[in-house]
Amino acid sequence: MQIHTLASGSTGNCALISAGNGGQRTTICLDAGIALRTARGFAEIVGHNLSELDAVLLTHRHGDHSTNIIAVAARAQAPLYMHRDTVDSSQKLGKSELIRRDIDRRDISDNGTFFVGDIAVTAIQVPHDADPTFGYIFEYQGKRAGFFTDLGNTEDIINRGIFANLDELVLESNYDPEMLANGHYPQALKQRVSSDLGHLSNQQAAAVIKDGASARLQKLTLAHLSQKNNAPLIAAECMQHALNDCGLQHVDLQIAPARGPISKALF
Ligand SMILES: [Zn+2]
Ligand SMILES: [Zn+2]
Repeated sequence: MQIHTLASGSTGNCALISAGNGGQRTTICLDAGIALRTARGFAEIVGHNLSELDAVLLTHRHGDHSTNIIAVAARAQAPLYMHRDTVDSSQKLGKSELIRRDIDRRDISDNGTFFVGDIAVTAIQVPHDADPTFGYIFEYQGKRAGFFTDLGNTEDIINRGIFANLDELVLESNYDPEMLANGHYPQALKQRVSSDLGHLSNQQAAAVIKDGASARLQKLTLAHLSQKNNAPLIAAECMQHALNDCGLQHVDLQIAPARGPISKALF
């Protein structure tokens, strides 16, 4: 199973999860908050055709995740998994649009598991200021990967043991608290970002690993980094300390760029 982030952050999110080979390959698109042509180009770089998808998944209604989700599902003629309360939460996610584009919408629920090909997908509801918002767990041939961005607090999901049995994790590491505090965001937006319904700081992401991960973890991708209130090196350093502190030095740490698939040279 492979996860490719194609875009990550407040200017747009899109990722591909795939497993298997050739005619047996299953491909899932998770969120589509960037232009279709851009997403198609990034997908090609990692060897995928955005018209050949087995399912499209939406985390939540915010535009940086949802803007082109219906267009992607329509073009691929793939089922779109999104929560019923997210339908009609914006014009682009309207019921009439789903009907007009002939979308096969399928409902999701907290802790509900469904299969896309041979990949078992479990939706996990998380606290964020677009209710409901979901993270996802993907399981294929005994390997488990988690994808969690856009969440303000992790207490509940750590307590539920969600991070304990993962081989791979894509995790939000949105902001450095000092940069946020000293930055130019209006006070209300600063409060929103750092609230329990906002985004995870580098330190909160590190705490997820310290309190929630296990030695099973092999690969960790930091995602949804703020371009104004964070820097890849600051986020990576904070997380590397946490990995070292808890004996997880073996974990392959990567940063998802705001635009384009991960390239080792960036980091
Ligand atoms: Zn977002
Ligand atoms: Zn969001």
